[in-house]
Amino acid sequence: MSEEHSLNFLEEIIEEDLKSGKYPHIVTRFPPEPNGYLHIGHASSICLNFGLTQKYPGFTNLRFDDTNPVTEETEYVDSIKEDVKWLGFEWKNERYASDYFDDLYGFALKLIDKNLAYVDDSSSGDMAAMKGTPTEPGTNSPFRDRSVEENRDLFTRMKNGEFPDGSRTLRAKIDMAHINMLMRDPILYRIKHAHHHRTGDKWCIYPMYDFAHGQSDAIEEVTHSICTLEFVPHRELYDWLIEKLEIYPSHQYEFARRNINYTVTSKRKLLQLVNEKHVSGWDDPRMPTISGLRRRGYTPWSIREFCDRIGVAKRENMVDVGLLEFCVREHLNRVALRRMVVFDPLKLVITNYTKGEEILLGENNPEDDNGGEREIPFSAELYIERDDFMENPPKKYFRLAPGQLVRLKSAYIIKCEEVVRGADGEITELKCTYIPESKSGADTSGISVKGTLHWVSVKHAIPAEIRLYDRLFRVEDPTDEAGDFKEYLNPASLQVLPAVYAEPSLQEANLEERYQFIRKGYFVLDKDSASGKLVFNKTVGLKDAWARETKKA
Ligand code: ATP
Ligand code: MG
Repeated sequence: MSEEHSLNFLEEIIEEDLKSGKYPHIVTRFPPEPNGYLHIGHASSICLNFGLTQKYPGFTNLRFDDTNPVTEETEYVDSIKEDVKWLGFEWKNERYASDYFDDLYGFALKLIDKNLAYVDDSSSGDMAAMKGTPTEPGTNSPFRDRSVEENRDLFTRMKNGEFPDGSRTLRAKIDMAHINMLMRDPILYRIKHAHHHRTGDKWCIYPMYDFAHGQSDAIEEVTHSICTLEFVPHRELYDWLIEKLEIYPSHQYEFARRNINYTVTSKRKLLQLVNEKHVSGWDDPRMPTISGLRRRGYTPWSIREFCDRIGVAKRENMVDVGLLEFCVREHLNRVALRRMVVFDPLKLVITNYTKGEEILLGENNPEDDNGGEREIPFSAELYIERDDFMENPPKKYFRLAPGQLVRLKSAYIIKCEEVVRGADGEITELKCTYIPESKSGADTSGISVKGTLHWVSVKHAIPAEIRLYDRLFRVEDPTDEAGDFKEYLNPASLQVLPAVYAEPSLQEANLEERYQFIRKGYFVLDKDSASGKLVFNKTVGLKDAWARETKKA
């Protein structure tokens, strides 16, 4: 985040508001509905809301928008809190829209008393029929002109549980011919005899989004209520309710939803993937959820950097997942510990190595001057990658081939002397010699070679499982294709290598540390690991496809 940024449109508004003295400080909120785990799109909203109050005087609340009792669960509340904290942000107050149910009920009575709300007995079908269309006005409900007394009585009885679900609603009395369909007497309250995760069975009427969100903003004295573009048409109702209720004048501002390609960012769709077992859970490393990205090895910095780079926009667009990968690669290159792991082993015997074994030292991270070194045991029997050897190599092949020299990383230069084959003709072993004077860090051999290979000592290697991931979907925007989005799942998104050979220092691997498996990519320990069974997830490859693409452009 070193480059100077010009102000985004929200920062411009806020700087103006602070300069003019409209507000002494600002208040923002992040308002998730606890009906699923947070995803990368939410991270944008989190970084934006919390980022603004890090930059300007003020604070941010975490507010759970829990007005729909049916879809909400405490598990989701807990995961949301964990994810926001993990991203590196602190909220001032933890609030729940359900904390305000009493206030909202009072607000509803106030509107009734001002003759600005009425109880409607129309069925939802009748209401839809009377709604009109964008080009035709609607018609007034036959219940629209009930007296204040009757409305008060019926609304109180709705609250007391006298009526079944769907039999009545409370509606604002605005204008059935309004050009904005949302202003045609919108529903404020509905009857739902359902258990709520926080208020239990206290309520059987629940406020609609439009009668909860702006009111909660006002109660918390939120100055800048930032939401996504689909709420633009709601702003008129937001303002109308605040004005009629004479409450704190919060203001709503909209920015474009952030979506990334080859995945879906909708809790409802992600829930389907979980429920139908297309993935192992909300935190499956292929999921675009914060918890999935965390398990995949993403760092909080990399996600914040990504959100910062895509910035705030007024128009929706699709962001390339390559940018997210670029951000994590940039961070991991700085912090990951270098380790050697052989995925597809070919045995190599050094015939002139007579020392038995020795301990070599390897840098933990050449990017970090204080990274220190680790011990790597070396012996006469090693594994290298099968595809690092070619019997009949083309020109400019710098890896191992008969008669050719290569360096073993952090060790010696070796030369391939003989190829050993099994009964079926497959190569089973390479016989090599080493140059004792070529030890890394103390090389007096005067020989220079072009290729460097990673390796592990057979006797010291520890087995591990590796999980490699590809894009969850085969197409850029699965929701924009014909049919169900799940038809576009990538069947090869997970590949498991059950037994690779890792250098022994990885025995101490832990969930917090990040690793670069030399020449292989960035990896992180998975929570499925147990003692004696290490499991690593591939976070991202070493190659920087995104930077290459943009350089070309
Ligand atoms: P979903 O469709 O995934 O359920 P949502 O908008 O219904 O998303 P909320 O829990 O209501 O989810 O979202 C909390 C906040 O995060 C809202 O202010 C919402 O506008 C914002 N948000 C959600 N998805 C995105 C996204 N893809 N990009 C930017 N902001 C988002
Ligand atoms: Mg929602």
